[in-house]
Order: sequence, then structure tokens, then C-alpha cells
Amino acid sequence: MIRLYDTRQRKKVEFQPVEEGKVRMYVCGPTVYNRIHIGNARTFISFDTIRRYLTWRGFEVTFVQNVTDVDDKIIKRANEEGREAAEVAAEYTAAFIDDMRAAGVLDPDVRPKATEEIDTMIALVQKLVDGGHAYAVEGDVYFDVRSFPGYGGLSGRDIDEMESGHRELRAEGTGVAERKHDPLDFALWKAAKPGEPSWDSPWGAGRPGWHIECSAMSDKYLGLPFDIHGGGADLVFPHHENERAQSEAACGCTFANYWMHSGMLQVNSEKMSKSLGNFLLLFEVLDSTRPEALRMLMLQTHYRSPLDFSIERLHEADAALIRIENAVKNLTWLGATATAEAASALDTVSLRALAADAREDFIGTMDDDFNAPAALGAVFSLVGDANSAASTATGDGAAGSLAIEDAEALIAVRDTIVDLMAVLGITISTAAEDETDYPTEVIPLAAEVAGYGGSDAAEAIEALLEERARARAEKDYARSDVIRDGLADLGFIIEDTPQGARVSYQG
Ligand code: AMP
Ligand code: ZN
Repeated sequence: MIRLYDTRQRKKVEFQPVEEGKVRMYVCGPTVYNRIHIGNARTFISFDTIRRYLTWRGFEVTFVQNVTDVDDKIIKRANEEGREAAEVAAEYTAAFIDDMRAAGVLDPDVRPKATEEIDTMIALVQKLVDGGHAYAVEGDVYFDVRSFPGYGGLSGRDIDEMESGHRELRAEGTGVAERKHDPLDFALWKAAKPGEPSWDSPWGAGRPGWHIECSAMSDKYLGLPFDIHGGGADLVFPHHENERAQSEAACGCTFANYWMHSGMLQVNSEKMSKSLGNFLLLFEVLDSTRPEALRMLMLQTHYRSPLDFSIERLHEADAALIRIENAVKNLTWLGATATAEAASALDTVSLRALAADAREDFIGTMDDDFNAPAALGAVFSLVGDANSAASTATGDGAAGSLAIEDAEALIAVRDTIVDLMAVLGITISTAAEDETDYPTEVIPLAAEVAGYGGSDAAEAIEALLEERARARAEKDYARSDVIRDGLADLGFIIEDTPQGARVSYQG
């Protein structure tokens, strides 16, 4: 059973999809007027992890995310740069898709663009007008919040309190538009202003408001009610409150059954945002850091909690990931050293049980509101178990090579670690060494010292190690040192273990 925190009910509840075995989810996408920053990325990575986990748990997930490609900010940027708004939006839509893929976020099943769905939005606005939930004033159309009794129910706000706040503002003369019937009413459709992109509508030329976009697209691509509506916590009010009011007023049904919101990524306890200027763009961060390290950092904090970002924490996350990767590499290497003659040195039954326990803990914590930091804890605990089993198998008094059954148990543990990390969206290589990085200079070295005649770097290393073992067996230490030094010059380190020589490339 999966439990999740529902913003509307303000508590953790059991997740029951509308349709058995299926999850339909909608996560608000970006407004494309700039490259996204790592705060935006946090929200998208959080929901990507939730989506991946639900899929792994056997749900057929349909994931929809819009692109807001018409908006004041896009128009402003276009005017500043003397370009068409559509050109600016197209540029940053493409950049957004690139950034998401570079960060390891899966593509949504549907990625509708606002400008390609104008008719769908006009139809929804018309329905609200016809139903008495919206009214037109000189080419604008506003939603009448007083016509929807549940207004404020998502964000837990009281409509009368909000209203009096607005009345005070008005008294101070800060200019709440008088054309609205009520200061809380919000625009569904905005009359065209000169020089702005616009479309024909029953109320004259204009463009859609922001909130109506998600209401129209989620209905079109998922149907109502759908299961999970997500976004950053800063969208709860007014964006999600307004989406909900429009959709529920129009259909007379529930809009989304569960509302999930991710916490803000902060710098020095302040929200990362474009307006505060304290942002780091995702693509710039990924120029100097691998995406897996950034995701690791995101996973180390629960998706609902604020996440304090710093470069030091990013490096620590990378180091934590390297601990897992080293354990996996080591297990792969050990697994390959098994021989049929060797006697077992490990309690393989207990070792396999530890892997099964870790998997169960992982599921238990992720089922409980997607607690990724606790799930990572289960993986790290298994990494610790694996490292101690590996040192038992190779330590003092251990036989020269591993028994087949020990190797198989170690590989089973390794595969559990790799599988669970993959569920969280992090791929860990199971290669003992990344041979693709090997410098090709080892080939002439192997040709010269070991008579190697091929052209493969990994084979060349093999040949050199065999030649070195032969030299050592013959007590020709001068020759074995030549090989070691030659390899060291190219960045390879040789370690002699009871299981034989192990080479690692340090780059
Ligand atoms: P926007 O383009 O501003 O609408 O933002 C796109 C998404 O990023 C929304 O889901 C926001 O809630 C989210 N977001 C914006 N700033 C942050 C932040 N500092 N931390 C986490 N999510 C954020
Ligand atoms: Zn939205």
C-alpha cells in the first residue's frame, strides 16, 4: 500500500488510483522565457523519481506536463530582444527539453504547448461563462471565485480573510483592478494589447490566462478526475487553487484526487528564484557536475522538505555516490575471480537475506510518501554489508580465490544495489573498470613488452598482466617492474591481492 501526503487533506493518506493499476499524473511545466535553474530542476527531478517508483511498483503511469509558451514574461523578453515571442518560446522550449534529458529526467508521455491548445482553452472558458462561473469585461474574461464554494480549500485559506486583505490594499490605493466583480477574481482570458500575440475568441482577440492552461490540458489528456497533480509548493496558491476552482466549477466533479507539492530548493535559507537573482542554471551546473551527483543530492532530502543547496553539499553527494560505485566495482571484480576448487568463506544465506531485507526496507520507505533519503539509507546499509563480506572473502586467512557460491551471493548483492539505485533514476555501471577510458598507448606498450599483436586496450592490459605474472613467477623482478612502471606512467595502478593482480585506471 502506498501512502502519500495530500496537500488538500493536509495529511498522509492511502493512495487509491481511479483505475486499478494505473496512475494518471499531471505536473505543471515551465514558462519558457529562460533556461531553468536547479530549483525548478528539483521539482522536476522529485516528480520524475515518484513517477519512476510508481512504474517500478507495477503501475501503468501516464505523465503529462505542459509548456507555458505564451506569457507576460516571454513577451517582455521578446520585446527587450526585438524578437517574436514565438521565437523566444521555441528557443527555451528546446533548451528545457535538452536540460531535462541531460539531468536524466524522463520525457512526459504528453507535452502539450499552450499555443497549440488555444481552442481547448477557449471551450473551457466558454463553459465557465455559460455555467455562470465567469464573466466578460471589455474583452477580458474573469473567473467568479464567489461562484465556487470550495475556493480556498486546497491551500487552506479563508476566502473572507483574503478578501479583507484585498480591501485594505484597495483602501491604500494600490490599484486592484476595478473591472473585476471581486478582487479575488482572476483572468481566464486577457484582451489583446498592441504588439502582443493574440488569437480570436468569442470575447475578441486575446490570449489565455496561465491557470486555465493546466485545467484544459489535464482534462484533455488525462480526463477528470485524474490521480495526482504535482508542482512546487510555491504553486499551491494561487495557481493550483485557481486550476482546481475552474476545473471543478466546469465539470461539477473532482479535479485531481491527490495534490503533491515539492519543497523549495534554497540558498542560505532563501528560495532560489529568478527574481532574487540567487539562481544557478541547471545546464551550467551540469557543465561541471555529473547529473547523477545532482540527483543524489536531491534524493538525500525528502521531496517535501526545503533543500539547502551548496556546492559543498553537491560534492558530498558525489562522494556518497562514489562510495556506492566503488563497492559495485569491487563486487564485480571479486565475482570474476571465482574458481571451482575454492572453499566457501562466506555465510551466503545471511548475505542473501541482507539483500532481501534492504529491498524490503527500500520499498517500505518509498511506499511511505516516497521517502528517498530513507530508501538511500537502505542501499547504504547494504553497501556496508557488501564491503564487509568482500573483506571477509579477501582478507587475512581467506583462500586465494573465491568459491563460486560466494561469488554468486556477492553478485546478487551487487545487483540489488544497482537495481534499487536505478529505481531512483541513478544508473551504476557494473563494469569492474571503465575500459572505454583506457588510453590507447597501452597497446604499443603491450606490443613492446608482452608481444601483444592486437589493437584493443583492455586486451593489451590483460597481456601485460599475464606477462608480469610470468616475470614474477620467474623472479625476474626487473621485468615485472618495467611493466608496473610503464602502466603507472599511463595512469594505471596495480594492486596485488590474494585473488591476483587488479588494475585500476586513475586517469
Ligand atoms: P516556473 O517556471 O517558475 O513556473 O517554475 C517551474 C516549476 O519549478 C514549478 O513547479 C515551481 O514550483 C518550481 N520551482 C520554482 N522555484 C523553485 C525552487 N526554488 N525550488 C523548487 N521548485 C521550484
Ligand atoms: Zn499548472
